Amino acid sequence: MLHLPDLTTLDQQHLWHPFTPMRQWCAPEHTPLILVSGHGCTLRDQFGNEYLDGNASIWTNAHGHTHPAINAAIIEQLGKVAHTSFLGFTHEPAIRLAKELVDLLPGGKITRAFFTDNGSTAIESAVRMALQYWKQNGRPERDTLVAFDRAYHGDTLGAASLGGIPLFKGSGNDFGYRVITVPSLEALDSLNAGERLRIAAVVIEPLIQGAAGMRLWPQGMLKKLDDWSSEQDVFLILDEVMTGFGRTGKMFACEHEGVVPDFLCLAKGLTGGYLPLAATLTTERVFDGFLGEPNEGRTFFYGHSYAGSQLGCAAALASLRVFRDEQVLEQLPAKMARLGELMVDLPGYRQCGMIAAMTIDSPDLSLGSKVCLAARKHGLLTRPIGNTLVLMPPLCVTLEEIGRMVAALKAALAEVTSPECRTA
Ligand SMILES: *Cc1c(COP(=O)(O)O)cnc(C)c1O
Repeated sequence: MLHLPDLTTLDQQHLWHPFTPMRQWCAPEHTPLILVSGHGCTLRDQFGNEYLDGNASIWTNAHGHTHPAINAAIIEQLGKVAHTSFLGFTHEPAIRLAKELVDLLPGGKITRAFFTDNGSTAIESAVRMALQYWKQNGRPERDTLVAFDRAYHGDTLGAASLGGIPLFKGSGNDFGYRVITVPSLEALDSLNAGERLRIAAVVIEPLIQGAAGMRLWPQGMLKKLDDWSSEQDVFLILDEVMTGFGRTGKMFACEHEGVVPDFLCLAKGLTGGYLPLAATLTTERVFDGFLGEPNEGRTFFYGHSYAGSQLGCAAALASLRVFRDEQVLEQLPAKMARLGELMVDLPGYRQCGMIAAMTIDSPDLSLGSKVCLAARKHGLLTRPIGNTLVLMPPLCVTLEEIGRMVAALKAALAEVTSPECRTA
């Protein structure tokens, strides 16, 4: 049995954390927060301190931690079997989950679910499907993906190729397929005819770019992009890894503008934030484009060892049941309104459903992380994007907890920022 100081030392000796400057992490004066338990929107650290989970554990958690229904579903599945291969076999949780997911989209256009285990591979699956589809269905010149400036679609090399944020893009940008990045729909529309003919698919985070610092797209833009894609017969890939599962106030962000894409990529909230599972949903048209005799080479040769994990699918089914049983979406408008009322006076405030953000207008880009550190003392955990501060709590958050989160954020802001940034 390890004691707490030992755990801290061992972490600093042997771990390497994602997106983390490790020299500062390992500095003797830094005490890593070891999270030991959670309940609802509350997380508890190694000292027994409690915090509100202000970013839903990096945008994943929907119904709170240790939700009895999701815990029970995982335990029940564990009693049967934890994992079996999805290559050449199938299982009931994945079958049921595929049916429930495609039924969430209107109109019957989306019919197929392809499972992976994280958002980046959900995107890569869509990219590979789009490229391979055109290659083997008479349009091999369609070798280009279009993405938007400041987009974020994940960290594997294939997903990072689509990224428009230099910091997250890594050391190169030519990972095996051609990407054009555009700032807007207008810029996309003004590509010359030769370029247009090479487009296999357009990929976008609908309504809001997350990692870019919660940048909102103009209202109606998604619908116009969908129309444009249909006119050009180009695939539309929607990255709903962040926006899916109630985050924007509806089950999926695309519902706000009546759009059903050719590919819908889902991950973070799919299991309610409990286990790694992702899905790339697509249409019968795309699916049909891969049918043939094995020797024709039309098969989609792609997948991961933990694809369609039984435990993950069981958790996802339980999460979708909680959405229905607890009428989760029906309760969001009051929570969204409260977030807005309490945060509207903050600088650079913007909101998309259960995502609220503000930006400190300062050249000192360390202020965001200082505010987040200060917020811990007021019982709030969240993570900045530069000087942008984000509140996106689990959907189960209460109005009272929203009040405490915003109060903690404001107190931390007042402590850290210069007087002109301060608010009441
Ligand atoms: C988090 C995120 C991803 C990547 O998902 P991972 O599970 O971290 O690989 C992709 N797209 C968007 C919009 C995201 O927010």
